[in-house]
Amino acid sequence: MPNNKVSPKHPRATSLRIREKLVQGFETGVTSSFGLFAHGRGEAFDYLIGERTTNNAKHAINAAAACLLLGQNPVLSVNGNVAALVPDDLIKLANASRAKLEINLYHRSKDREEAIARVLKEAGAEEIYGLDSDYHETIPEIHSERRIVDSRGLFAADVAFVPLEDGDRTEGLVRLGKRVITVDLNPLSRTAQKANITIVDNVVRAMPLLIKAVEKLQDEPYEKLKIILDNFDNQYNLAEAISLINDRLSALAKNHGVLDSGAEKK
Ligand code: ATP
Repeated sequence: MPNNKVSPKHPRATSLRIREKLVQGFETGVTSSFGLFAHGRGEAFDYLIGERTTNNAKHAINAAAACLLLGQNPVLSVNGNVAALVPDDLIKLANASRAKLEINLYHRSKDREEAIARVLKEAGAEEIYGLDSDYHETIPEIHSERRIVDSRGLFAADVAFVPLEDGDRTEGLVRLGKRVITVDLNPLSRTAQKANITIVDNVVRAMPLLIKAVEKLQDEPYEKLKIILDNFDNQYNLAEAISLINDRLSALAKNHGVLDSGAEKK
């Protein structure tokens, strides 16, 4: 979505543009008010990682690409925040990885589902799952609207890509035996901790890199993809993501709190 309000000269122009997209998403009924709070949590962690894609995130992105390509029935879950932020990238990723798109909301409402479906269709989506109540299935042990998934989509998926997801649903999907990939700036969230592959990065930066990684790996043999996936250890990667924040803050503190290239090496 073009944005004319943020001056390109503003030192925080990128961050402000992202925020504007969410506000527009809120005004058009795509994003919920709770989604705005979630974005605030994400922004705080983005500050801590230095608002750039770390090598740690790139490693997880590569594993996620291999995992999507190995999937027999990969499904991308779309909520109001990702629909507002990266609609075109969702379609590109679905095409590159032969994945289905499913609207899956934390705060479910018919109006919001329709608003998100409109955004996805405008971006080029042909088939969208999650909307037809005839196909609603439930994730066991979740006692709210969050348990609903599409029997042809997330319920049947072997690989579930759930960016900016809520912890209960992530745990539920893992319990159902799915391989769960998430993008979450907060390495301490339950989703980040419970997923099989956690990309600790802003979804706005991670999505184009994930599409590129899928395109790069898509002709590779099964064995090579399997090795990439088997060599990825999410607990190790998450611990490293937390260490990177720790090291960066220590370097900044030593630098009297001043952001400069010396404190930005990692
Ligand atoms: P959990 O239930 O997993 O413990 P939570 O209560 O914060 O965490 P949600 O609000 O459903 O759950 O999750 C949203 C997550 O998405 C948060 O961890 C937030 O940091 C993260 N997030 C928000 N905006 C972005 C973004 N643009 N890119 C990546 N992650 C983001």
